[in-house]
Amino acid sequence: MLHNEATGPTSVTDTLVRRPFTPSANVAQLKESATIAVSTRAKALKAAGRNIIDLGVGEPDFDTPEFIRRAAQRAIDAGATHYTATEGILPLREAIAAQANTDYRGEGAIAAGDIVVSSGSKQSLFNACFVLFGPGDEVLIPTPSWTSYYEMVGLARATAVPVLGDPANGLKATAEMLAAAATSRTRGVMLNSPNNPTGAVYSRDELQAILTLAEERGWWVLSDEIYRRLSYDRAATSLLELAGSRDRLVVIDGVAKAYAMTGWRIGWAIAPRAVASAMGALQSHTTSNPAAVSQHAALAALTEHAAAERAIAAMVAEFRRRRDAAVALLAEEPRIRYVYPDGAFYLFLNVGGASGAAGEGDAGTVFAQRLLEEREVAAVPGGAFLAPEWLRLAYAAPMESVLAGVRRTIEVFRELAR
Ligand code: PLP
Repeated sequence: MLHNEATGPTSVTDTLVRRPFTPSANVAQLKESATIAVSTRAKALKAAGRNIIDLGVGEPDFDTPEFIRRAAQRAIDAGATHYTATEGILPLREAIAAQANTDYRGEGAIAAGDIVVSSGSKQSLFNACFVLFGPGDEVLIPTPSWTSYYEMVGLARATAVPVLGDPANGLKATAEMLAAAATSRTRGVMLNSPNNPTGAVYSRDELQAILTLAEERGWWVLSDEIYRRLSYDRAATSLLELAGSRDRLVVIDGVAKAYAMTGWRIGWAIAPRAVASAMGALQSHTTSNPAAVSQHAALAALTEHAAAERAIAAMVAEFRRRRDAAVALLAEEPRIRYVYPDGAFYLFLNVGGASGAAGEGDAGTVFAQRLLEEREVAAVPGGAFLAPEWLRLAYAAPMESVLAGVRRTIEVFRELAR
């Protein structure tokens, strides 16, 4: 028996059972998603009656198009309420393959067996990292990048190696920069164009140079193309258009952003057959199939082409209008530098010049706190993307909210820059 001051004698088992929780080594390094943390705080302020303009969330503010909602309702009535194949229903995987083959001209056409549908492209990315990388491996991540990449690589017990992009070129990383950061342990690179958080779009030549380097070095290329359809000045290039073979290429996409279907949770990976099988096996022991009804909704999105293209064109036009208006407004404060947003729905601003923001914490965090608490605008501090002097505003909100958000950002910048 042991003695506990507060409760008196306890047994050894009691002591073990009551031991405070310490996270396992699997998650010891894991950080809460900073983007989700901001939206939680914004929601709490809203619930307390504050009139918050939310430019923090990374999701389209449009409803899922009606033809997709109807397809889901029909699927429910037709009994699509059971388990499906772990890797997704065959017609959906065939539709994904058909769409991908319009881009891919390399060896070995893409078939349904090369595709695993998951509960969002986030799960596809995680599964890909988990089956491809492990202890001792290094994975290059052009930075800034979406916060979850670093954590996913870490969960696979591999090492994420941030490669800082060029501020003079939309914070994009070049093949030369990646080569300079590589070691003998480098196993892969994670690409994302259009990029979250910057909105930058890699040119065909930039991607080709990175792909060539990866091929020479035998690296895996994970290309997250979730924002590909949201590109305003020119079409964004898919790695599938450039690849001569898919031996070391995994392309990730989904319906969340282009079809305004974030809550349906459907994404997918297009991978070499053996990788797809391993990802399917992993999924079979974790989440099984993605929601059956959502798969039928995604099938409509990918096969009812005319309706889908109309819906995407309307959303892209509205995003472009907001982007143009936001950029025009930003011109009023030339001291705020920003990445010119060619795609996605993000504005990435450098607030490092607001020297008053460099108090407690990094400039982006101090700026974001002030913007939220005093001006009721939610934005994500750049630290979430390993760019602490920056701030991300999402223009996935009505025009008047976007403009009010940018205006208040300029006001806070001017206060802090004095
Ligand atoms: N990839 C990037 C770059 C994202 O920004 C996001 C969501 O914000 C995702 C993937 C995840 O999308 P999904 O909703 O398909 O899981």
